[in-house]
Amino acid sequence: MAESSTHRLYLSPPHMGVRERELLLEAFDSNWIAPLGPQVDAFEAEFAERVGVPHALALSSGTAALHLALLEAGVTPGDEVIVSDLTFVASVNPVRYGGATPVLVGSEATSWNMDPNLLEDALRDRRQAGRQVAAVVVVHLYGQPADLDAITSVCDRYGVPLIEDAAEALGSVFRNGEGAELHPGGMGQSAIFSFNGNKIITTSGGGMLVSHNERLVSHARKLSTQARDAAPHYEHSEVGYNYRLSNLLAAVGRGQLQVLEDRVSARRRVFERYQDGLGHLPGLRFQSEAPWARHTRWLTCLTVDATAFGAGPEDIREALQARQIEARPLWKPMHLQPLYDACDLYGGAFGEALFRDGLCLPSGSSMTDEAQDRVLETILGLHRP
Ligand SMILES: *Cc1c(COP(=O)(O)O)cnc(C)c1O
Repeated sequence: MAESSTHRLYLSPPHMGVRERELLLEAFDSNWIAPLGPQVDAFEAEFAERVGVPHALALSSGTAALHLALLEAGVTPGDEVIVSDLTFVASVNPVRYGGATPVLVGSEATSWNMDPNLLEDALRDRRQAGRQVAAVVVVHLYGQPADLDAITSVCDRYGVPLIEDAAEALGSVFRNGEGAELHPGGMGQSAIFSFNGNKIITTSGGGMLVSHNERLVSHARKLSTQARDAAPHYEHSEVGYNYRLSNLLAAVGRGQLQVLEDRVSARRRVFERYQDGLGHLPGLRFQSEAPWARHTRWLTCLTVDATAFGAGPEDIREALQARQIEARPLWKPMHLQPLYDACDLYGGAFGEALFRDGLCLPSGSSMTDEAQDRVLETILGLHRP
């Protein structure tokens, strides 16, 4: 596709292959237009296989998946749930759906994800204060797995279930202490993924809940379909939801799953071209890959020291915007959000600095070299030695 200089360049646009269209039309022609159906079953099985976790439930969004994961962890009104502070708001909102209270834990500098030492401080402190922490939600931000060995061992010691928010981390790899290569999503009690339009693969909207626990997934399945009891008529004994994925969208997801590895390679290549083109400049620092991680580079993230570089992150964002190129600040920490600024917080200063200095660059797997060169030239042009 020709890339004209007026063509708007997005942060992370959908990137469809040929198979997605064929599968979608097959599903359409089969008249399985309902939620549920053979494409949903196949998508769940193929997804479970891909992430190496035996049970998967396809849902209407990652947010819905997290809501069900919290319910299955036994979170009830009045409980506390510990959540990563540096994240997208959808990691925290489902805690409030169930009447629980979020407690925020800040990031470490290696992966930018939840600091296991701060998590331990939080768990110790909450226990001493007599609070009931019902779950920990760890986020694998921007495609980089958190320090899962340390986090799982802290959670085990305190007997608190771990839920992985892997919405941004599909396709990443975590190397554990024994050197085994694992996919984030299998280390806790359950994990959630998202297929929203901006994620590494997309169904336009959708999500997945995975777990090693078959009973957990089958009960979540029941809750996601209005919690109907086993009876020929409509019988209900608990509150349910309407959270299932459409059969049409599952067909798109199956096609996308087949090209996941290509999408990861393409995003990593985009990151490398940015780093090669800009990494030598004073004041620009790209997010590093943690020693335990294969980062997907879902988004290329960097921090900008305005004094050293000669322009700040907002100057760069505005210069890109003027050339029809979308860039964004890093996630604004939850403790700085009007919605969550009253929550108890452990750490948080590192996330604040990232928000102040950081920037996400266009990172789509379909971006051409020519399009990326427009970004590189714009940023190079702002450097004042
Ligand atoms: C996208 C995202 C979600 C929510 O997923 P949806 O499918 O959009 O509901 C949750 N957590 C994180 C970290 C995300 O980036």
